[in-house]
Amino acid sequence: MATYVSNVTLFDGRTSKKNAGVLFSDGAIEWVGAHARAPKAARSAEEVPGRGKTLTPGLIDCHVHLCFDGSADFAAEALELATDALATVRAVRNAARTLGFGVTTVRDLGARGDSVIAVARGVERGLIPGPRILAAGRALTITGGHGHNIGIAVQVDGPDAVRKAVREEMRAGATAIKLIATGGVLTPGITAEFTAFTQEELDAAVDEARKWGRVVGAHAIGPAGIIQAVRAGVDSIEHGSLMDAAGARLMKEHGTFHVPTISALRGIVDHADEVPAYAVDKARAVTDTAREAFRRSVRTGVKIACGTDAGTPFNPHGNTPVEIVRMVEWGMTPLQAMRAATSSAAELLRLPDVGVIRAGAAADLVLYDADPLEEVDAVRKPSAVWKAGELVAGMSS
Ligand SMILES: [Zn+2]
Repeated sequence: MATYVSNVTLFDGRTSKKNAGVLFSDGAIEWVGAHARAPKAARSAEEVPGRGKTLTPGLIDCHVHLCFDGSADFAAEALELATDALATVRAVRNAARTLGFGVTTVRDLGARGDSVIAVARGVERGLIPGPRILAAGRALTITGGHGHNIGIAVQVDGPDAVRKAVREEMRAGATAIKLIATGGVLTPGITAEFTAFTQEELDAAVDEARKWGRVVGAHAIGPAGIIQAVRAGVDSIEHGSLMDAAGARLMKEHGTFHVPTISALRGIVDHADEVPAYAVDKARAVTDTAREAFRRSVRTGVKIACGTDAGTPFNPHGNTPVEIVRMVEWGMTPLQAMRAATSSAAELLRLPDVGVIRAGAAADLVLYDADPLEEVDAVRKPSAVWKAGELVAGMSS
């Protein structure tokens, strides 16, 4: 059965037009154009009246941790998680929850064992509901590095060991690679700007991931670690909170994406009385600089993709629309922020069939009662969500 969204305001992932029509069937978009010129097939399709509404591609979140729920104490939650099986159960629940917010693709950047790899496969096979998932499996960190204490990272040192660790994640079925290039906010005893892996280690990891055709995301907060990761050729800098002018120029030159994860910082600083003090202090210390770094990226023309770091304190799954609103608060136009969560994110993840509405692309679509490009808050309330042409949230479902 085909579906036709009639006479709708369309944001196709790049630009916006009024009075459009979109026809989809068998999971893919069949036709996009002016409603007045709809093809015959649209007349026999089930019609979704689009007048006064806005249709966008399904949102993409380039940074989540599906096996975490976002409770106040990240390290305590990790301890309580205890087994890969329990992590898998949580990830199943969080994947399903994500869809209701209009998010149809996520990249998981660090999980217990192969828990999220299994969930990704379960979704792909239609066993459980959830967004399309690129899964990094376990993150790679140095011995004692950021994330070593939460069960989602393997500790490796030296270029050969790092290369082997990439191969091990590939063997486990990972479809992305995550490197922890600097210290971080949520690990006690290590400063956020600490430079972790050496240049040789980063080079080895990226070289190996490239051979497998995998996208590499590097957690990097300090300016020196950012520059090393960009030189190694990673596809994205996650957080980038202390990025300086030299870092921004280098990212622009290399085409490296910035995934700012504003929600990760806001979740902590907005709940300072509940989150452990070591995390609050570090998050507070970098928030102003992170805003500057974000603005610098926008100004310099660094490519930006939307990512929440969902699963970290008070940063629940499905927070992607909130991240879009926050990117606008920090200085993007609504159009820029919506691109960051659709076509730009798809470019980073090298997924040509999502993040855009064009004939042949996947029918991952979100309908809103108001236009997020006019009033960005509208993105918080999707009225219908389709993934591969199937209604997965909203309307009468
Ligand atoms: Zn993260």
